[in-house]
Amino acid sequence: MLIRARIVVTMHGEPIDNGAVAVSGNRIVDVGRFDGIKTHNAGDVVDLGEQVLLPGFINAHCHLDYTCLRGKIPPQKSFTDWIKAINAEKSQLSGKDYLASINDGFKEAKRFGTTTIANLTAFPELISRVQPTIRTCWFAELIDIRAPEHANEVVDAAVESLKSLECADMSALSKRRHVAALQMQRWGLAPHALFTASKDLFRRCEEIAQHEHILLTTHLAESREETEMFRDSAGPLYDFMKSIGRPMDDCRNRTPLGLFLGAPSPRTAGKLGGALSNWIVAHLNELSESDFELLERSNSKFHVAHCPRSHNYFGHSAFAFDRLRSLGFNICLGTDSLASNESLSLFAEMRAFQNEFPSVAPEEILKLATVNPARALRQEEELGKICPGTYADLLAVPSNGGDLFEEIIASVGEPWMMIAGQVQ
Ligand SMILES: [Zn+2]
Repeated sequence: MLIRARIVVTMHGEPIDNGAVAVSGNRIVDVGRFDGIKTHNAGDVVDLGEQVLLPGFINAHCHLDYTCLRGKIPPQKSFTDWIKAINAEKSQLSGKDYLASINDGFKEAKRFGTTTIANLTAFPELISRVQPTIRTCWFAELIDIRAPEHANEVVDAAVESLKSLECADMSALSKRRHVAALQMQRWGLAPHALFTASKDLFRRCEEIAQHEHILLTTHLAESREETEMFRDSAGPLYDFMKSIGRPMDDCRNRTPLGLFLGAPSPRTAGKLGGALSNWIVAHLNELSESDFELLERSNSKFHVAHCPRSHNYFGHSAFAFDRLRSLGFNICLGTDSLASNESLSLFAEMRAFQNEFPSVAPEEILKLATVNPARALRQEEELGKICPGTYADLLAVPSNGGDLFEEIIASVGEPWMMIAGQVQ
């Protein structure tokens, strides 16, 4: 199949006027000027007219479990109050509700041009009953706050669920090649946060990541209250965690980042540095000068997921985009969940980012939802750009001939889409 558009934005070289993409199976096999593509490739032509064709979006941080909580929790006085509010909502939900919520989330993410999602779920045992309609990297979200002595069991049970999923996908491969190809994605582990997952749980996840070559993600330095808890042994989050029985002996004059990196010992930080590229760290809103020193010293770098609209909802400190970028961090966009956001649109996320950082070039903003998250998911050769060999995951939006990248970011409405070579 050949797909022609007024302009093709490949995210891998200059945009191509009167461009086309040749698709075979679920992959792109050729891209270039329409004249050349139709000479070198056979197939039906889908002419998208005056549209811009670009790679499908990749959401680097999301919790589809909570799609059903849209509009249920108004902004709270504190982050801790929000945790209490979402816990109250969650206590009303059944496994069936979560399944419906996750499936609705997939539909919504797809409607806004997302073709790949890094999705954290607190219910890895439900994954085999979900029908993802887009590529999914499943992260099992792990919490052992009430039973830190069982950290290993918590992790190992989740790994078992995720691995059985891999086996199920393998057996499905022979029957429904297309569906299986979409479902058989990477999986990873998500110790929820330093305040809800024990040191042993983090350590176990790192061990498994080394054996299984999987990805890891966590929430880090998200709120002022988290910093206050670990640095000052004080504040609402400290009080709440203590009240539910969390051992608080790690709350001693350290920042969350310092604790995560094993600082203040630079030796430990250096040692951890080797494995940091496995991590996608969500948020990182609250960083001190000593944290920046640690980031500069670190041997390797994690990836960072910034969620602009969830950030606005909570009123966190300004995200240090320029400093993190200049230190070489790979920064991606995520939507977070609908318990702190209005929609799962990465277009809206890019617009919120643009409001926050108006001096960042629109083309660079588009990278935050395409090539950068592809790299974070270790799939930079297969996702996030249009070139021979990448998956045929595409979207197209109308173009009126204005500033190309501005037009893409400003686009509202449902884009034309292709996933794994299938027009949606
Ligand atoms: Zn999150």
